[in-house]
Amino acid sequence: MPKSNALTEPFLQPRPPVIADPSKAQGEYKKKKRAKNVSGTLARIWHYLARRKLKLGLVLFMVLISSALSLLGPYMIGVAVDDYLGGDGAFWGMGWVRFLIMLGVVYLLGPITSFLQSIWMIEIAQETVYRMRVDLFSHLHKLPIPFFGKRQQGELMSRVTNDIENVSATLNSSAIQIFSSVLILFGTLGVMLSLSPLLTLLTFIVVPLMAVGMRWITRRTGPLFKERQSNLGDLNGYIEETLSGQRIIKAFSQEDRVKQEFAVRNEKIRLSGFWAQTISGMIPKLMNSLNNLSFALVAGIGGILAINGQVTIGVIIVFVEYARQFTRPLNDLANQWNTLLSAIAGAERVFEIMDEEVENKDEGKAAKLDKIEGAVKFEDVSFSYDEGRNTLSDISFEAKPGETIALVGPTGAGKTTLIQLLSRFYDASGGRITIDGREIGTIQRENLRSHMAFVLQDTFLFEGTIRENIRYGRLDATDEEIEEAAKLANAHSFIARLPGGYDKMLTGGGSGISQGQKQLLAIARAMLADPAILVLDEATSSIDTVTEIKIQQGLQRLMKGRTSFVIAHRLNTIRQADQILVLKDGGLLERGSHEELLKRGGFYSGLYHGQGVEEEAGD
Ligand code: ATP
Repeated sequence: MPKSNALTEPFLQPRPPVIADPSKAQGEYKKKKRAKNVSGTLARIWHYLARRKLKLGLVLFMVLISSALSLLGPYMIGVAVDDYLGGDGAFWGMGWVRFLIMLGVVYLLGPITSFLQSIWMIEIAQETVYRMRVDLFSHLHKLPIPFFGKRQQGELMSRVTNDIENVSATLNSSAIQIFSSVLILFGTLGVMLSLSPLLTLLTFIVVPLMAVGMRWITRRTGPLFKERQSNLGDLNGYIEETLSGQRIIKAFSQEDRVKQEFAVRNEKIRLSGFWAQTISGMIPKLMNSLNNLSFALVAGIGGILAINGQVTIGVIIVFVEYARQFTRPLNDLANQWNTLLSAIAGAERVFEIMDEEVENKDEGKAAKLDKIEGAVKFEDVSFSYDEGRNTLSDISFEAKPGETIALVGPTGAGKTTLIQLLSRFYDASGGRITIDGREIGTIQRENLRSHMAFVLQDTFLFEGTIRENIRYGRLDATDEEIEEAAKLANAHSFIARLPGGYDKMLTGGGSGISQGQKQLLAIARAMLADPAILVLDEATSSIDTVTEIKIQQGLQRLMKGRTSFVIAHRLNTIRQADQILVLKDGGLLERGSHEELLKRGGFYSGLYHGQGVEEEAGD
């Protein structure tokens, strides 16, 4: 929408002192976007609303009544004035007392119907956005891992909260107001035409001006509202990232840089918010001026017509009142149109995520296995994250049930990738991976992963008690089973010493306990899950000797009887492994036991005998 740039550019005045690179903010600011598919988005919102068709029908009925009542009031007053001045005192044939009561009823019923329509609509709106939130959240959880690699968490959170809230605000009020405005507008026009076509023409003379003005404004504000939403998402993403990376920010004394980057994002919101609000704020002023113009025309020319006896005083009163009234819906329409555009922009961002392809669906006949032995076979497996360069090439090996396979290799060799393929976070682009002779693509993903457990370097702990965190391994585990698992994992003694024991609340990703203790909890969790296949990413961080011995013991117990893949950083595991796979540049360089590989005198032997073996063995 280039015209809006022409309008806004000269006025852009970012505040220089706080901005690292204001030109960056402005540059991005210039890339305004319109809602791409308004009708499609509206149709999808309608799909949600349609669940409450009946109530929606009632709301529309109430809108109809309240709009009719708002037309009736001024009309009755006009009639009364004419009847009074005409001297017959008929007051629409009711007599003045009954007439006044009728008028009272009309003015009383108006707010009642408005109130009803508003609470019913709020109910419908809340239910609609509730369902949208459910759908979006569950869809997010079906999306494949690569999707999350490309998106900022905070930005996604913003879509679930801010954008949906925007839709809610619009449905609560704007949608109905737009409908009611259209009704009042046409109703007013109808009554006016029936009373005096000439005065109607005078009143409506300003409408084309209003239409042009509104169009000019909304064409500019629509993209700005959309941009504000997306800037807000961006800021949320940044805040989330900096909050979760607090330690690193502090450790590297990056507070000032973070503040500056925050300022750039904040500035973008300020700019888009400022212009969206400022330009849309012009609507009431414009409407008011044009309204006054139409009011003056009706009063002046209407007065002359009345003096000449061409219209009655009552008609003038009705027109003056209607002239005041008919611009209100136009005004509302213009205002609400902006809110509607902003909500459509928000809804579009929500549907955009809902349209993201979910993790490849399991094939129709994908199997659900109750139990697996844990025989794993890779046959000429290749994989690339992006077209062109293979991250893994022709990997072949076989792990018998219960064996321990150590994965060794320089950083970036493809160890983690190999595990990702086994757990089907990514699908191999060539070759076959089988478990118990069955290709993993023919096993239901969820079922496949339920037979695996992961003990990773960076143990993820949820906000909740220690017990709940261990129970994550198997949700139906009893308290006794949890304690048993913790004992086997060597975690019991440290848990028992904590205030609150198993009921101690962990917050902030488990910030109250040490790295080693987190690993012990991860081992307990995996122990409880009792999987046939285990994936261990050994900790590289230095852990005190006592804890390390405990972890090693816990791991030994955990690995017993399970096929274990260990991304190895420690020589202990490597020595004891049944097979060591040495990966380099995505290829399987060597394979064998510790002794065999040493005897061969190749890359592994070089690593082992070289200096700083421990550092180079893994990453
Ligand atoms: P480390 O020991 O450091 O953890 P690794 O052996 O586990 O390394 P991988 O994480 O498997 O290595 O990465 C293998 C290669 O794939 C690297 O070159 C890495 O840059 C690339 N890579 C990893 N993840 C992605 C991704 N999501 N998209 C694109 N490339 C990726």
